[in-house]
Amino acid sequence: MLVVMRAHATAGQVRAVCEKIESLGYRAHSIPGAERTAIGITGNQGEIEAGTLDEMPGVQEVIRVTKPYKLVSRDFRQENTVITFPDSDATVGGPGLAIFAGPCAIESREQAFAVAERVHNAGAQFFRGGAYKPRTSPYSFQGMGEDGLRIMAEVRDKFGLKIVTEAVDNESLDLVEKYADIIQIGARNMQNYSLLKRAGRASKPVLLKRGMSATLEELLMAAEYVMSEGNYNVILCERGVRTFADHTRNTLDLSLIPAVQRLSHLPIIVDPSHGTGKRNKVTPLSRAAVAVGADGLMVEVHHDPDKALSDGIQSLYPDQFDELMNQVRQIAPVVGRTVAGMGFKESAQEAATGHSSGGVASPRDHRS
Ligand code: PEP
Ligand code: MN
Repeated sequence: MLVVMRAHATAGQVRAVCEKIESLGYRAHSIPGAERTAIGITGNQGEIEAGTLDEMPGVQEVIRVTKPYKLVSRDFRQENTVITFPDSDATVGGPGLAIFAGPCAIESREQAFAVAERVHNAGAQFFRGGAYKPRTSPYSFQGMGEDGLRIMAEVRDKFGLKIVTEAVDNESLDLVEKYADIIQIGARNMQNYSLLKRAGRASKPVLLKRGMSATLEELLMAAEYVMSEGNYNVILCERGVRTFADHTRNTLDLSLIPAVQRLSHLPIIVDPSHGTGKRNKVTPLSRAAVAVGADGLMVEVHHDPDKALSDGIQSLYPDQFDELMNQVRQIAPVVGRTVAGMGFKESAQEAATGHSSGGVASPRDHRS
């Protein structure tokens, strides 16, 4: 059920409706929109008697949501969710593309800093890297754990990059929540419901990767798990699914992007690195992802991929990432998106010339 408040409903009226919902034993999720506040109701097994809420002051209508996912749906919130960060102009879901780049795994301080410097200079605002690695083999490198998280925090301090890293279980999530700016839930854990619920109680945004065989509805339901616990800052990520095709590691399903954007207000980014598993396919698929309307990219970059402890063959060399960004900068304005200026070098240049290297901003409409 969804309670739609009138455009001019007061904060007190919204609060009274939420209290009424809670007093009935349900959970109220109040999300203010540009024009009106919508209050989602979860925790109800069956239908709630609409009359109880219908007559309350400030209520415009009570709608029955027929889709299995509620809080993630555009019925609940019509405008796109834009995720912001304290002390930063980086956003996910706004007109600016969110570019996440970094190694598959944090391997050492030297490696992390070498890669971070390059991706920062190229214009990435988010630094990715696994401190806990869910590997197919128990004998493969499993990540540096908390030491890796500490290195990432140093990267944030030095370059101002926002940090995203994966939590593989509830224990690691406690630590990831402490150090990172965004908590990543990996493809293998997309249906780990206790982890999703824990992430839903976290104070940081969640980046949720699509499971290798997950349908669109299953992905949205996983996001619903996170939101139902009160964390409304969820970023979806397409990273390829298993198919019979064997020319790539996975099959990157770019048709998911407009499909999600029709149904949900949540931002969705694309990971062409895990999506293709091949370095030479990362840049072409990044171009396509931006063109199709993705809200951002997540790209693996390594300063010495041949020596990488994981996913070297799909990691770009820093020069290749520069070129990727160069191409993305040209495509972005065509779809009404901007790209942040390049790191230190460019900012200095901008200050001198007064020009920004971003594209032309224009609002996007996902509901077309
Ligand atoms: C990753 O991004 O580090 C990762 C392991 O990806 P996925 O969960 O999509 O396999
Ligand atoms: Mn990887």
